[in-house]
Amino acid sequence: MFEIPETHPRYGSLMKREKLVAGIEAGITSKQGLIAHGRGEAFDYLIGEGTLNSARRATEVAASLLLVAKKPVISVNGNVAALVPKEIVELSELIKAPLEVNIFYRTEERVRKIKGHLEKQGAGKVLGAKADARIPGIEHERAKVDREGIYSADVVLAPLEDGDRCEALVAMGKRVITIDLNPLSRTSRHATVSIVDDVERAIKNIISVVKEKKGKKEGEKKLAVVVGGYNNKTNLREVIEEIVNRLKEEELILMR
Ligand code: ATP
Ligand code: MG
Repeated sequence: MFEIPETHPRYGSLMKREKLVAGIEAGITSKQGLIAHGRGEAFDYLIGEGTLNSARRATEVAASLLLVAKKPVISVNGNVAALVPKEIVELSELIKAPLEVNIFYRTEERVRKIKGHLEKQGAGKVLGAKADARIPGIEHERAKVDREGIYSADVVLAPLEDGDRCEALVAMGKRVITIDLNPLSRTSRHATVSIVDDVERAIKNIISVVKEKKGKKEGEKKLAVVVGGYNNKTNLREVIEEIVNRLKEEELILMR
């Protein structure tokens, strides 16, 4: 990796780019993944590169949903594997959810490499190589899933999801949690719970809320109330309101 001094004002952002470039060199991230990340970065600027209050509320619901799930699964693509490998392995253990490799630019070699990369970080069960089932209504490679994984899961955590697949998973009756910096994307609009935040921040936040809830031994009833009281569209409106208010403040600063 290229040496970036920690004092650089954009250290965090540059390190993410380094991780993705390393992901490409290791054969786990696609080149197209860089472009997807770039679009995400633009939204992160508008958000202020920090977690919004609305994203915190969505995270609380997401953590509750993962804890009440009967069969949760975490979907992993090439960007997620490069950016947050340790964190998703930790979360997978905390909520007893297998990881499943699921990529748009699928080659069996890349699936194998992502699996190996996760196992190196300590992952137990990594699904996705078998791909013995299909999500109905999807024609591209991300339709390929494991029958014992995403296909039969009741709750899917899919960071950096594709809009059409998110819609198709919801149509199968699943509850889908997404992490996507764009509050306007099809993914954000169709998910059961959309966390509009950077994937690193969001996964870290989910881990800490899950730990807190487990520590307090919150019962299923209490968790279900949190999930039941949530409306994703309302939350997305709040995200947009927070972004607009932030931009208005920025504008005032510029005018001074
Ligand atoms: P959709 O698939 O939902 O219709 P899209 O096709 O516009 O939306 P994709 O190209 O599938 O979006 O994925 C790129 C999106 O992924 C970015 O616009 C951004 O919102 C999201 N994204 C990329 N990198 C990150 C990241 N590090 N954290 C969170 N979200 C990210
Ligand atoms: Mg897409």
